[in-house]
Amino acid sequence: MSCAKIDPALHQPHKPSWIKVRLPSNPVFFSTKALISDLRLHTVCESAQCPNRWECWSQGTATFMIAGDRCTRACGFCAVTTAKPFALEEDEPQRVAEAVQRMKLKHVVITAVARDDLEDGGANHFARVIRAIRDADPSIIIEVLVPDFHADDSSIQIVLDAGPEIYNHNMETVERLTPLVRSRAKYRTSLQVLRWAKELSPKTVTKSGIMLGLGETEPEIFQTMDDLREVGCQVLTMGQYLRPTPDHLPVVEFITPQQFDLYGEIARKKGFAHVASGPLVRSSYHAADFHPVAR
Ligand code: SF4
Repeated sequence: MSCAKIDPALHQPHKPSWIKVRLPSNPVFFSTKALISDLRLHTVCESAQCPNRWECWSQGTATFMIAGDRCTRACGFCAVTTAKPFALEEDEPQRVAEAVQRMKLKHVVITAVARDDLEDGGANHFARVIRAIRDADPSIIIEVLVPDFHADDSSIQIVLDAGPEIYNHNMETVERLTPLVRSRAKYRTSLQVLRWAKELSPKTVTKSGIMLGLGETEPEIFQTMDDLREVGCQVLTMGQYLRPTPDHLPVVEFITPQQFDLYGEIARKKGFAHVASGPLVRSSYHAADFHPVAR
């Protein structure tokens, strides 16, 4: 299952052949890049050094990261900058809505840095962005990938009241590894976030994701799936953890594509309505493949 060869310089397994990052080959990539820059927007594609950036941007899609590009947390897996954030930009909701229109997106994913400096964790800003997009295009599918808001149900409610179709909050890893992988977030708090989202708005689809290759065991992966199903989570993504820099957590193992397929099958049997599982799967990778309204 794992790639056994250890790179002596990095003390971690060599990157296997199935982890391939495609380079931009298409003019759409550059027009997407220009549009994002023109509208002064941030994307998690860039900030988190996503390996799919070339592919997604070449297809004219991207995941917008609102509320700045400075995060108040310092998770061991994440490449987003940790620093004191700047003030929220009042016109950001309109700029995101304009980008969505110009890119002609039918399904948009909006995420944000964790804003623990704000009383509402940035929930009202999320809501303003959702409403601006909805005003511009009432038929669009809006997916939010939110921080835990410290499981504050009033913040969760604020986001849900704005009417996203999909409420995504990532577990990131199994319970045992959570203190190592995530800075302040707690496994049980994240489960509570998903439980509350489903209880507060049963029609909203709930979604979560985990990274594999951080040293988790199979029983721990299956337990996480069970925990997510127990709180009503309907969509699951699973992808390979990749170390963004030598300062981040090392990869413990590279999971084979066949193993990802198997985990995907097991997750479906456990009752998830939609599962994406593969080495390069990320929360927002091919997010539009799941259409909640058609269900
Ligand atoms: S998978 Fe998501 S974060 Fe990565 S490039 Fe695609 S849209 Fe951006």
